[in-house]
This record gives sequence, structure tokens and C-alpha cells, in this order.
Amino acid sequence: MTRLEHWINGGPTPGDATRTAPVFDPATGAQRVELPLATVEEVDRAVANAAAAAPAWAATSLARRAELLFAARELLHQRRDLIASAVTSEHGKVLSDAAGEVARGIENVEFACGIPHLLKGGYSHQASTGIDVFSLHQPLGVVAGVTPFNFPAMVPLWMIANALACGNTFVLKPSEKDPSASMLIAQAFSDAGLPPGVLNVIHGDRVAVDRLIEHPEIAAISFVGSTPVARSIYERATATGKRVQALGGAKNHMVVLPDADLDLAADAAISAAYGSAGERCMAISVVVAVGDVGDDLVDAIETRLDRVRIGPGTDPDSEMGPLITREHRDRVASYLDVAAGEGADIRRDGRAQRFEGDGFFLGLSLVDRVSPWSRLHREEIFGPVLAVIRVATYDDAVTLINDHEFGNGCAIYTRDGGAARRFQGEVQCGMVGVNVPIPVPVAYYSFGGWKASLFGDSHIYGPEGVHFYTRTKVVTQRWPDPATSTIDLGFPRTR
Ligand code: NAD
Repeated sequence: MTRLEHWINGGPTPGDATRTAPVFDPATGAQRVELPLATVEEVDRAVANAAAAAPAWAATSLARRAELLFAARELLHQRRDLIASAVTSEHGKVLSDAAGEVARGIENVEFACGIPHLLKGGYSHQASTGIDVFSLHQPLGVVAGVTPFNFPAMVPLWMIANALACGNTFVLKPSEKDPSASMLIAQAFSDAGLPPGVLNVIHGDRVAVDRLIEHPEIAAISFVGSTPVARSIYERATATGKRVQALGGAKNHMVVLPDADLDLAADAAISAAYGSAGERCMAISVVVAVGDVGDDLVDAIETRLDRVRIGPGTDPDSEMGPLITREHRDRVASYLDVAAGEGADIRRDGRAQRFEGDGFFLGLSLVDRVSPWSRLHREEIFGPVLAVIRVATYDDAVTLINDHEFGNGCAIYTRDGGAARRFQGEVQCGMVGVNVPIPVPVAYYSFGGWKASLFGDSHIYGPEGVHFYTRTKVVTQRWPDPATSTIDLGFPRTR
């Protein structure tokens, strides 16, 4: 079994912690990695290295930073299969999904390659007589990222690419459940020529995160994970004066209007609800059937369930892999008892499907006629359980979404452009899909939800990422007119 190391000051650094955590291969249930959990002293060492590297990195020219990002992009691209395979072996998602995650992560490095353009400030010549005003975007210093298990390559790249491009140094605390991808990313940046200390990876749990929150040298924290932790980190870290963006959990609705293309909608529901075993913050977990569309829609979804092949992520025939841990699998499965207790119509109970071996597999579940007040609707399940809620009208569907605690993403399926346009204006969510079930913005927009899906005022990556990782300075300057200067400028003066 491998023992993973931290990545401090440009290379692997063995952890001296006595506390460790097991990292499993979810497809077999076997432990594959022993992970050191950082002590406060180790976090301090990583932050001290990042702080020492910060002045030189902030002074590095935009041209050189862009050159390094281009080189890192090339290496990440060349090593994409290796990174995807590390994701599959620890997260469990199928290789094609893992490859997609790596590609979407690399998009952020591609965006950050444009940093010379992105950091251009404003300039006002002659704002007042003889006075010019301009703005600069300067780095914050040392910034930290804390990331979730479900996108162990993409989410770190959401943060690292822009944070480094803007001239900050970075300390990443990846999920302790699937930490290996972050080491491959750190290696790629190092091989691209990133100076030691600019990017550090520290493995750990709450002890490490708590230290990052209170550490006086950390200027900002980007967090992505569950809502209770996001809320707590936001409250505690802002109280210490840090800039914080904390993205939380989700419950994403897909509204299907009576005029929708039902085959398109049913295909989308299958891929968006069960892809990556439902462990996506943008997964569709509730289908909202409007008017009389419910019976046909639920039938169309149910007939597609048997076509989804569940198996190890390394098997090219698998379309869905296992869940992240045994405990999480059992927690997800427990929602079927909740559904039965509430009298919902369980069209498919995923627990009935049997799997060989000790992997953390669970079959697909489809629960119809779920009440809006049910825990199946109110809580984030984060697994392959799709709830269907039937409502009478479009307005009822929008009210259902807007009354929900979360507001990450949502989608509408319709052929009516006017209805779609109303929906995009009225719905209280950060990301909206029109006949697109998982509307994750491309890297040159920004990603983020509303309500309990995001704490802070900045979405992540894209233009808002550049804004988050910089602070603006406005310079107002006056220089004497050469005509009135007493210094010999070497050319004739006119008076
Ligand atoms: P999590 O909140 O359990 O863990 C996220 C990170 O926080 C990990 O690095 C973990 O070590 C750390 N952490 C956990 N408990 C902590 C505590 N008490 N104090 C300090 N740090 C702590 O989330 P997860 O289970 O890894 O990921 C799944 C969750 O992330 C889901 O809720 C999902 O919706 C959410 N998520 C949201 C987005 C988004 O963009 N909104 C994206 C991906 C995942």
C-alpha cells in the first residue's frame, strides 16, 4: 500500500503525522493508499513556504506567468489519462467521466493563459487638468483552497489556475477521500517550471482546515463542499478578516413542461441523475413533471434504467461506477426507507440490484410522487436516487424551486422559447439550463449557485475568479508638464 506525501516547496514531503486516513478503491472496497493527516505544524510549514515564495511570484512578469501556464496546460493535457485513471481508482467514476472532468479542469488553465489580458486595468487620461487615474489588479498573497471528493482534479484546477495566474501562491487541501489527482497536478505545474513554494498540497482533515482558517498569513480561502461546512468556513474565516468564497451543496430540479420532447428529457434525466453515481453538485436529483406529462415521462425514464450498465469505472462497458465510501452508499440507500415510510411510489429500488465483491455499488432508484415536504426533496442525497414531483402548472414548478433552500443549478425542458425565457428570468438559481440538464458554465464564465449553495459574493473561476484572487488599487497621479519643468529634458521648451 502506498503512503502519500504532501507537496511542499516544490516536491513531495513525507508527512510526520501519526494520524492517517485510508483511501479506498470504491470498486473493490480495498484500501489502496495510506494518507497522512497534516498537523498544525505541517500546515504552518506549507504556508511559510508559500509566503516566502509570494513576493517573487507576484513580481514575475505576466508574460512569464502566461508562459508557465501554457507549459502546465500542455503537461496536464499529455498526462490527462494518468490523472483520469487516478480519479477513477479513488473516486470510482467511470474513466470517460474522469477524462471529462480532467478536460474541464484544463479549460481553466487555458482561460488563465490569457492573464495578461485579464489583468488589464482601466485608465482615464486627464481626469482632471494634469491628472490621470488608473487601476491595478494586485495579488492577495497566500491563498488556500479546500476541495471536495467528487471532482478531485477539476475543482482544484478551478482554483489553482486563476489564483496562480493572478500572482498568488497557493496551499491546496484536497479531499482526503481521493487525494492522488492533486499530487499529479502539482507535479505537472512543477515540471512546467513553477518555482518551489508557489503551489503546495497539504493532505488532511478538519485539523488542517481549521489551521488554514485561523492562519494570519492566509489572505483568502476558496472552498467547495457541503453546505454545513461551507457555511461554517465562511463564517469563521471572514471573522478573521479573510476573503472567502464557499460553494455548498445542491438540489437541482429539472422542469419538464407538457410540450417538451419526452425522449430528449428522459435521456437527459438518466445521464444527469445517475452519471457519476449522482455524486455531482450539478446532478439533477428532482424531476418536476408539469401538467399531464408525469405518466409518460416517468415511464420513459423507467424504461431507460435497465440500459445503464453499472460496474467498475475501469471497465469501458461501465456507465456508472460505485459510490465514494461504504458509509455514504448506505446513507444514500437509507433514503429508500424514507420514501417507503412516506408512501411515495418507488418505481425502482436500487438496493434490489446485487453486485459481486465488496465495492461500494448501489443500483439506480426512481421514486415518483414525492412530496415537496419529503426529506427526499429537502435534503441533498448525493447518490443515484431520482425523485419525481408532479405539479399542476409552470408557476407551481417555479415556486417549488424558489422555495428550496439550495439554488445551485436547474433546467427546463420545453419547445416554447417564451416559457424558457420566463424561466431563466424568474428562477432563483445561479446556473440555468434550457434543454441542457447540467449547465456547468464554460471556463470564461463563472460557476456558482445562489442561496445555501454559495456563501460569499463571488462565483468561482472565470472573470469572477480573477476578481476574487486580486484586489484593486486606484492610482491618481499628476506629473508636471515638461513645458514648466525646471529639469533639462534635452529638448526645447515652449513657454
Ligand atoms: P465535505 O464538505 O464533506 O468536504 C469538503 C472539504 O471540506 C474536504 O476537503 C474535507 O476534508 C473538508 N471538511 C469536511 N468536514 C470539515 C469540517 N467539519 N471542517 C473543516 N473542513 C471540513 O464535502 P464532500 O463530501 O467532500 O463533497 C460533496 C459535497 O460538495 C456535496 O454537498 C456537493 O454538493 C458539494 N459540492 C459543491 C460544489 C459546488 O460547486 N457548489 C461542487 C462540488 C461539490
